[in-house]
Amino acid sequence: MKNGGILILSGPSGSGKSTLCKYLQENIPDIYFSISTTTRAPREGEKNGKHYYFVSQVEFFNDIKENKFLEWAEVHGNHYGTSLGPIQEALALGKLVVFDVDVQGHRGIKNYYAGACSVFIATKNKQVLKDRLSSRQTDSEETIQLRLMHAYNEMKHIKEFDYLIINDDITTAKEAILCIAKSLPYKQDPDNSARLCKEWLENLS
Ligand code: ADP
Ligand code: 5GP
Repeated sequence: MKNGGILILSGPSGSGKSTLCKYLQENIPDIYFSISTTTRAPREGEKNGKHYYFVSQVEFFNDIKENKFLEWAEVHGNHYGTSLGPIQEALALGKLVVFDVDVQGHRGIKNYYAGACSVFIATKNKQVLKDRLSSRQTDSEETIQLRLMHAYNEMKHIKEFDYLIINDDITTAKEAILCIAKSLPYKQDPDNSARLCKEWLENLS
């Protein structure tokens, strides 16, 4: 069976996760980007069902009650959750499944899928992050300050990740993430190797 793999991207808000996810979506044919559910208000240009499923607090907590989430967390004062159903379907089709979640989400997904590969996306310093959040022009000054305050708390988790990309030059960062994503189908998986050994013996003519 084809194995696309699981790739988790985390890092401070503004470090470039969405930009790199978009690049992967444009360059890997069999990819499924996990669309999270959130209580955050949509930013200009964000579409329901494409970037997120935007829901009310009540709807979000109903989804928790109905056990729809593989993991969920409160991040920067809003709630975000990853639905399990669509991920299982995409994995069964052999797709590469990509997540853009915070460090709590990373832990939750790794607990569930131990073989998942994780990449921390950082900027080289706080000033660069501040400049990027400001130039993105999607958040108020108050929201930017809140995101900057949380950034260092996220940085403290870098060592829990398999890879670190310091997103300085965007071309280099894109090359790095594509390289990691393309290597995932070749990662050892106990189920696949057992199946290969079984089929390998059976196909003797
Ligand atoms: P995140 O999804 O992590 O919050 P984004 O992908 O939205 O971050 O990136 C934040 C802003 O920084 C966006 O305006 C994006 O175009 C810009 N950006 C991303 N990577 C770089 C880079 N290497 N150099 C300059 N600007 C970048
Ligand atoms: P933003 O509001 O900038 O889109 O996202 C804010 C933070 O929430 C980012 O760190 C992003 O990775 C994280 N996030 C997005 N979706 C999820 C999710 O489903 N679960 C968790 N734990 N974090 C998420």
